[in-house]
Amino acid sequence: MINIMKGTKDLLPQESYKWDFIEREIKEVARLFNLHKISTPTFEHTELFLRGVGDTTDIVNKEMYTFEDKGGRSVTLKPEGTAGVVRSYIENGLSQLPQPLKMYYETPVFRYERPQAGRLREHHQFGVEIYGADTPQQDVEVMMIARTLFHRLGVPAPELHINSIGCPTCRKAYNEALKAYFAAKQEELCPTCRERLEKNALRILDCKEEKCAAIAAGAPSVLDYLCEDCSKHHEGVKDLLEKAGIPYKVDDKIVRGLDYYTKTVFEFVVENIGAKSTVCGGGRYNNLVEQMGGKPCPAVGFGMGIERLVLTMQSVGASFGEVPSPDLFIANIGAADAAFLLTMQLREHGVNAECDTMARSLKAQMKLSDKLGAKYTVVLGETEIKDGSVKVKKMADGTEETVKINDLAKYFIEKKD
Ligand code: ATP
Ligand code: MG
Repeated sequence: MINIMKGTKDLLPQESYKWDFIEREIKEVARLFNLHKISTPTFEHTELFLRGVGDTTDIVNKEMYTFEDKGGRSVTLKPEGTAGVVRSYIENGLSQLPQPLKMYYETPVFRYERPQAGRLREHHQFGVEIYGADTPQQDVEVMMIARTLFHRLGVPAPELHINSIGCPTCRKAYNEALKAYFAAKQEELCPTCRERLEKNALRILDCKEEKCAAIAAGAPSVLDYLCEDCSKHHEGVKDLLEKAGIPYKVDDKIVRGLDYYTKTVFEFVVENIGAKSTVCGGGRYNNLVEQMGGKPCPAVGFGMGIERLVLTMQSVGASFGEVPSPDLFIANIGAADAAFLLTMQLREHGVNAECDTMARSLKAQMKLSDKLGAKYTVVLGETEIKDGSVKVKKMADGTEETVKINDLAKYFIEKKD
């Protein structure tokens, strides 16, 4: 017996309707906000992520699934969704399309992390990527996409935490200030943070070690270092959130785990889901397209973890919609082929019908129908075939109605409307 790999999960047939439900709502939100789907490969040249995600991040340093393929290329399984989209945007000349270009994706994501509740080595993300617009409106629209999805999924508005991490201009001074602050407390930092101090002090703010987090809490605030442009943008985002009646908290310690962010960063935070409570994280990355070899192009987006979304929905008792079940179960007495053919015929007409294909007794067939949750049942035997009609039994109340076999499809189609 070979077991599943640590940190990965099967999506089982009895659970998959929950994911289907979420995907349907994602599609509906995409329709409402005019987002178009983009899918990029599961693996890319390793170089893409080194450049795109940033080589001082945990993701690149510790978490990537990187291997050599049979042609000797260094390949990496995507550790986040944005880098591939940026590559595709440049490679396919998507700047030619009307801007802002509003896209979304659903993708598996691979990170070699320490597995815990809500932290997997393969997880899935719904992500939004909007290219071309640099206004506060665009940031707020992106936040509203996430909020709308939460609302439609029955998750009471999670807390929205926002920050601005400025642009390369204002971050230079901020980095100096951070370095000075942490250098004075160097001895108390974890070994990784001591390294970060050299390479990218901003990363220390994202450390999950308790000791480092406590020190980080007293660090200088990035908001005191914003340049005029970044500051105006940040005020614009807050102002529009207020006008839209969306509650938020400014948390000047949010930096996010990726190097590409500029200006706005944000998180949606929920309670009760075990190890971690950020379901959705995002922000603006105005320099990434250029950094990856394209023409300068502002961009903003987020990634939302589907597994954490499912955990959140379960913890608040949200509904995943109806558990799928057949509309009609056609049981038979000595007429298995006739029942099978009738089932097929109804399906051709768009009726969700089911029958037994395991030569069960009538009693066992009725038990199966019950387990499947069929809404109606009929029993097909010699008499019914001769009469050309069956008794349709409504399982909810046991009432019966006689219906001509030839009219069954129509009967169920009309019921549906
Ligand atoms: P965290 O701080 O929890 O490590 P992150 O900052 O690494 O999260 P992002 O890279 O922004 O997360 O990914 C976006 C979303 O994807 C997260 O908010 C979370 O819902 C989900 N996510 C990230 N890593 C994992 C994981 N290992 N397992 C499950 N979901 C994850
Ligand atoms: Mg992480």
